[in-house]
Amino acid sequence: MKYYSTRDRAIRLSGAEAVKTGLSRDGGLLTPETIPQIDAGFLENLKTASYAQRAAEVMALYLTDYDKEELQTFAERAYGPDKYDTPAAAPLRKVDGNTHCLELWHGPTSAFKDMALQMLPQLLSAALRKTGEEKTACILVATSGDTGKAAMEGFADVEQTKILVFYPKDGVSAVQESQMVTQEGANVGVCAVVGNFDDAQAGVKRIFSDEAIRKTLADRGYFLSSANSINWGRILPQVVYYISAYCDLLRDKAISMGEKVNFCVPTGNFGDILAAYYAKRMGLPVGKLICASNQNDVLTDFLRTGIYDKNRPFHNTMSPSMDILVSSNLERLLFDLSGEGDALVRSYMEDLGRTGKYEVSASIQAALTEQFWGGFCDEAGTAETIARYYKDFGYLIDTHTAVAAQVMEQYRKATGDQTLTVFASTASPYKFCNHVLANIGETPRGDGVELLDQLHAATGVPVPRRLAALKEKTRRFDQTAEKAEMDAVVLDFLK
Ligand SMILES: *Cc1c(COP(=O)(O)O)cnc(C)c1O
Repeated sequence: MKYYSTRDRAIRLSGAEAVKTGLSRDGGLLTPETIPQIDAGFLENLKTASYAQRAAEVMALYLTDYDKEELQTFAERAYGPDKYDTPAAAPLRKVDGNTHCLELWHGPTSAFKDMALQMLPQLLSAALRKTGEEKTACILVATSGDTGKAAMEGFADVEQTKILVFYPKDGVSAVQESQMVTQEGANVGVCAVVGNFDDAQAGVKRIFSDEAIRKTLADRGYFLSSANSINWGRILPQVVYYISAYCDLLRDKAISMGEKVNFCVPTGNFGDILAAYYAKRMGLPVGKLICASNQNDVLTDFLRTGIYDKNRPFHNTMSPSMDILVSSNLERLLFDLSGEGDALVRSYMEDLGRTGKYEVSASIQAALTEQFWGGFCDEAGTAETIARYYKDFGYLIDTHTAVAAQVMEQYRKATGDQTLTVFASTASPYKFCNHVLANIGETPRGDGVELLDQLHAATGVPVPRRLAALKEKTRRFDQTAEKAEMDAVVLDFLK
């Protein structure tokens, strides 16, 4: 299986090369040239398999230059008991007869990013070997809060790699910031950027496309790679859990083989929901893909009108990992929906770069409407949903998960569709203690990790062990840079 660029189909890389480079040289995203198909037999086989087995089977369909045993070893390491606090890795929790929640935060950093970022470093290490690479990979990450920590946790002390994370100075929660600035590992670096997530992401993208920096770093023995969800090695492990959820529903007899389920996903950079789309394209019986946004509702408007327009106010919300105006992974979806129209995708991305806006063709828009439903949830809706889930179901959910739960309800009201729906829970409520406490009727006392105890005392829900351990950790990083200084920070980190 080869990978091409969404902006140029003439570019063809192996799976290992795609994982190694992250982003195509032309700025496009590397995308599989065909989508492998699965059938009832495939799902039947995985019904009683472990999560690691499911991961190996699904990933092997795409990474044909890795062998299945190798992938199985990686998956056992990634999702094993050292890392995950439940053997299921991504368990389903039943909320009511036709509503299940897919909990994706049982990994080491308590956010769904671990599902991919425990796997990516292993895929990358193997890719360096497979391609005979001698340089050190430097992973540059722009994070809206969760990716940075999960990436460092995955890459810490991985040979032949270094990792540098940029996060928006005032755009992450106190717990998220302490997770990042206390990260251990000799090969990691962290820097706050004055600005929002899009500023940090634009800075990283600029550095990636800067030939002079690339050349300087090559002379020093480094090449740049990405752990953002633009890397195919991030998307692929996420495809697994949608298939796994379906297998769990089959195993538990909540559905019968072939019956469709909907997925509702709280969305920022469009990586997580894109993985659900690929699962559907592979033949998993999926009805609607419900795209849930917070007050930054650029995707809701896009799915309803076919016009993507980032020229709008940016809101800092209590679900910061979704505070995004440019959803990079949408490009892969447009490529697929346009029948691999690389020229068309290139023109949309040029429009986006020049005017902050593009409008898709009528046929793409029709396909979007058929596959997706978009909605957004404002701050009051998020607050109300956290309170209601706790009261009605005894289920403590975080702010991002609440956005998904509320948009799922909007979808049901708007369409009357009663198909069994799985909504994704992307972070532990303990990552956003202040908002969760406030919305279940407690007054947060303090701002940072001290709130973990308070939330535990109020609810009895166990604190994830790595978060509990933060209180003992010392701060290792204290750097802040202006946007324009990001290049210098990179060059200094890779001296
Ligand atoms: C990253 C993140 C999201 C958004 O996922 P995308 O793949 O960027 O769409 C949602 N919730 C949480 C908690 C996240 O960390």
